[in-house]
Amino acid sequence: MCQSEGNHWVSGDQHDSFVVTNPANGDVLAQLANHSAEDTRHAIDLASAALPAWQKLTAKARSVILRQWFNLINQHADDLALLMTLEQGKPLAEAKGEVLYGASFIDWFAEEAKRTYGDVIPSPQGDRRLLTIRQSIGVVAAITPWNFPNAMITRKVAPALAAGCTVVIKPSEETPLSAIALANLAYQAGVPRDALHLILSNRAAEVGNVMCEDSRVRKLTFTGSTPVGKILMRQCADTVKKLGLELGGNAPFIVFDDADLDAAVSGLMLSKFRNAGQTCVCANRILVQDSVYDAFVAKLKIAVEKLQVGNGTEAGVTTGPLINSKAIDKVERLVNEARAAGAEVITGGQRHAAGAGFYQPTLVVNATADMSICQEEIFGPVAPLVRFSTEEEAVRIANDTPFGLAAYFYSRDIGRIWRVGEGLEYGMVGINEGGISNEVAPFGGVKESGLGREGSKYGIEDFMEIKYLCMGGI
Ligand code: ADP
Repeated sequence: MCQSEGNHWVSGDQHDSFVVTNPANGDVLAQLANHSAEDTRHAIDLASAALPAWQKLTAKARSVILRQWFNLINQHADDLALLMTLEQGKPLAEAKGEVLYGASFIDWFAEEAKRTYGDVIPSPQGDRRLLTIRQSIGVVAAITPWNFPNAMITRKVAPALAAGCTVVIKPSEETPLSAIALANLAYQAGVPRDALHLILSNRAAEVGNVMCEDSRVRKLTFTGSTPVGKILMRQCADTVKKLGLELGGNAPFIVFDDADLDAAVSGLMLSKFRNAGQTCVCANRILVQDSVYDAFVAKLKIAVEKLQVGNGTEAGVTTGPLINSKAIDKVERLVNEARAAGAEVITGGQRHAAGAGFYQPTLVVNATADMSICQEEIFGPVAPLVRFSTEEEAVRIANDTPFGLAAYFYSRDIGRIWRVGEGLEYGMVGINEGGISNEVAPFGGVKESGLGREGSKYGIEDFMEIKYLCMGGI
């Protein structure tokens, strides 16, 4: 947590701490004192007290501060990237890409803050005038994951601060160092100490509970797993908080017989293997039409075998470690279950010699949609390929899941593009494109993948309330 007094970090109980390790080699990077439930409450006290002054600034004044934060992040992008690779594992170039992508949300919302217009509504009665204004919702609590240690923070904090909210954020205990660095740059940029608080703890449930139960927190924004999202949603019911939830996915990646197969392979390599397969929009099930199945598999195998596994700080590495041993165990179980159910591993399929944290980039062919590897979120560098014969079958398999975050398909047929684009029950659809996220487009899911949208002109809406003013006696 950041204190308002002085220019220092106030730590929690020194005897109660957690370590941050490098997933590539297990090195201990830092030991941090745990913040408690009491510390969380105190941070909410301070954020609450800081709210009126921050709200009262003009959008333009907040925008100037956010712009300065954006500039500082860009200036320090290489250091932020290295810190991220050390605590999270992704290759340095990817980490730098995330830092710049993360900063783009600050740039965007610094501008959007100035455009939070209200309406003048034509009145049905002559003696009154009707209008709406938009005001910041209040104190925001944010809980973020480890797979994007920087961008999941900026995507929430930037619109919140831009809208005039103050924020208490609990980053993942796996990757708190990127969060600390980001917050320090925010203070240097002029964000008031009490407008942004970090809670660092490996007792997430305890902290989350306080955030959900405190009635002064008016919005909870969370990115993480669907089970935890459901817990938070239940816990927020008593105080009727606004919720932003970015939860799990089970993205289908469909290759139709009229697709440009080389483009589909490139798109899949990006969508599946980026961040070692640890993104919520990663292709999870690759559905390939019968007549192009073998040709697609052959091209994909060549591309997968070119991946370089290793420590993300080493030049040329494309695929870093998974975040922890639980992640490796899950990937191993899913591949073994697929094998046992009759699928065939044609490359990879084992832990990697680079170290305990690594898994081989893996292709599993002749998978079927009912296998656990196609039903659960893999979150690792493993691609299961399923055959289909008709367009209807592909869409039916793709939609047969409780999740609805991202989907992808490759086709050159304009009619099919519209039919499938409209038929997929997903919040985001990549058409002949494997990397679709940016600051100007709405990111979010349907069904059990979440609520709300981040980024884009919609991303600031949930941090504001609409107030209706009825002026009578005219
Ligand atoms: P992942 O599987 O990606 O780690 P989680 O949903 O477990 O996803 O974690 C995402 C974030 O949610 C992390 O910051 C984690 O500490 C936090 N978290 C985990 N369990 C809870 C909980 N019960 N209440 C609040 N936050 C939680």
